[in-house]
Amino acid sequence: MQPFTDSGTPLIAEFAVEAHDGQLSMTFESAGGRTKNGPRNRDYVPALVVLLGRLAQRSAVIVSAAVESKKTADLPLHKRLLTDGSIQLSPASDFDALRKRLTSAQGRIGQEEGAPKAGNNRKRMRLVLEVPGYGIADGPRLERDLAAPLLVDDLIASLKSLKVHNSGGKPAREPIALLWALGRLAAGEGRLFDWPEFDKEVGDLLRDFGASAAPRYPFWHLGSDSTLWERHNLAGPPTAADTDARAGFTEDAAALLANPVVRAESIYVLRTEHLSDLADQADLLDRVGLAGVAERAMIEIRTAFDSVTKATLPSLPPDTLDKMTAAVRRVEQAELRKLVVGTDDTAQCALCGDTFPLRYLVAAHIKPRSQCTDEERRDLRNVAMAACAFGCDMLFELGYITVDKDGWIRTAEAMPSGRFADHVTLVGTRRCSAHRPGTEPYFAWHRANRFVK
Ligand SMILES: [Zn+2]
Repeated sequence: MQPFTDSGTPLIAEFAVEAHDGQLSMTFESAGGRTKNGPRNRDYVPALVVLLGRLAQRSAVIVSAAVESKKTADLPLHKRLLTDGSIQLSPASDFDALRKRLTSAQGRIGQEEGAPKAGNNRKRMRLVLEVPGYGIADGPRLERDLAAPLLVDDLIASLKSLKVHNSGGKPAREPIALLWALGRLAAGEGRLFDWPEFDKEVGDLLRDFGASAAPRYPFWHLGSDSTLWERHNLAGPPTAADTDARAGFTEDAAALLANPVVRAESIYVLRTEHLSDLADQADLLDRVGLAGVAERAMIEIRTAFDSVTKATLPSLPPDTLDKMTAAVRRVEQAELRKLVVGTDDTAQCALCGDTFPLRYLVAAHIKPRSQCTDEERRDLRNVAMAACAFGCDMLFELGYITVDKDGWIRTAEAMPSGRFADHVTLVGTRRCSAHRPGTEPYFAWHRANRFVK
């Protein structure tokens, strides 16, 4: 398999994880020579660093590392070894130094005694591993987990496609159990949960919110998505006897969910995709300790995001920042919609005045978000208005219509013809229902900077 960087770029290198002589081991293919696509496994070094880093995140032990090439096949193991003894990895390990240790030791392997110079140090290697949470049969899973990190988009997609069980119209158990687990994670109480505690707490929660109270099923079934949830000391849904069973978020999922932005979007996805029929959502969030994150997401997230951006993002790949920004936008738009458009089934477009089902209305910024000061961005009730997707949102954004200081809609003189012009004429005789003292400064910006005139 090919490994990918943290931002999802494939590396030209090959590795595999398999059971070998009763142990889990990783083979890493040699580099050198040419293929029709260029040098063979030319990303040998960066790929090795990436893989060592991901092993370190999992607190793996390299039991042994040895060259395993055709040329050295006849040598006994002790003449092919690259390390003396095992190496305990931790996230604080210096992967680059370790990589150098593994590659520079290769040079002398298979060389004649007293050879004038070291040989190739991009040889095929086998690393015998012990990785917490991965048994001898988990080679394929470890291989996949090492190849590509879980990205924010993957996590959100996982949550959207969560398999849920909601017999007889009752609320689904899985999203409720996940919200509980998220609440614990957010409170810094770890990512794995003991079954007796889960049984009690999630059981009560399921009962109180009208779901069928059988916490043993989500405890087990959430694990059907192995990127999200892992389980230990279990062969099926637990029973009272399974006092040492544990389950919870995977290391990768927990790492992403430690970020308040990702957490807020995850909560949002669980609420809207899987619990939209639950009337007492707010009570549920309150109960699991997530009310603040969800309901005041906008400002909290903004602040959290700013501090996250400043404090930790320089060490993350740029792509992660884009993805997080996109996540913030989605949550913001959702929160903004709730304030500006409302939560009834239908609402009025502030420009044409027609009533539309909610999905055809957007919370349109009167002054673009990118031009707003922080304070203006937080002026949620005034900075945006409900505009329909049938022309008003676009015409306003492009500046073909604006709103004057008395609230009357003004239309541009130069205008394309056809349906476009018809819509402009239609709205041109109206007053904008979103115009008021609070919104006037934003409309003033639009008149001065966007209106085509
Ligand atoms: Zn409209």
